[in-house]
Amino acid sequence: MTYPIHYFQKHHKAKVTSPYGPRPDPFGSGKTVMHWGVDLGGVQRGHLWTTPYAGVVTHTGTHGGRGKVAVVRIEGTRVLQLFQHLDEFRCRKGDLVEPGYPIGTNGTSGNVTGPHLHYELRWDDGTPLGSPVWGDPEEFTPERAREEDAMDYYIVKSGDVAWKIAQNHGITLEQIAAWNPQISDLGKIYPGQHIRVKPPASYAASQADLDALAKRVQALEDTLSAVKKALYQG
Ligand SMILES: [Zn+2]
Repeated sequence: MTYPIHYFQKHHKAKVTSPYGPRPDPFGSGKTVMHWGVDLGGVQRGHLWTTPYAGVVTHTGTHGGRGKVAVVRIEGTRVLQLFQHLDEFRCRKGDLVEPGYPIGTNGTSGNVTGPHLHYELRWDDGTPLGSPVWGDPEEFTPERAREEDAMDYYIVKSGDVAWKIAQNHGITLEQIAAWNPQISDLGKIYPGQHIRVKPPASYAASQADLDALAKRVQALEDTLSAVKKALYQG
């Protein structure tokens, strides 16, 4: 199992200068901000960064504070690698890359306090990877991404609560309940438990879904009739 950051440490002799996770704003706003990637330094400006994984270059471009960004989709996954703050691109959109292929040079484009690579992982719809922490490039593996994606299940971690899992997946508690009839109490989920967060392939609208829909329609009608009443009374 190789984590991307281990690749950069081993093959580039790079050092983690700022890890993934919440940190004080490096630009001095005094706020705590989420750092969605890992900063890699300890190499010279102009050093040629290469990709830890095979894949396809889906984008190169300049994006405000991110600077010059090369995006590489990891083969066999929906996961994008973002290489930020490059000085020069050494790949082009559409390139098929293998591990060790050039991406770009260590630079200072965008908001930086010095030359470094900001390496970040995202789903291809732009959302951050996994919760709570497997999206950390010091924890990530493509196998894990494929499991999370293909199995349609979320594996409960310590400290998880059902409503938060629902929120993170853009679904409702009612949907979790409908898709997981084996779970009798969503208030008592436990680490290691598998929760289906996508409808089963053969899924047909369940009674729970229909009830939830009816409830929403009723709420809408109540609001409308209240508005109508107010209009007529005024
Ligand atoms: Zn960074």
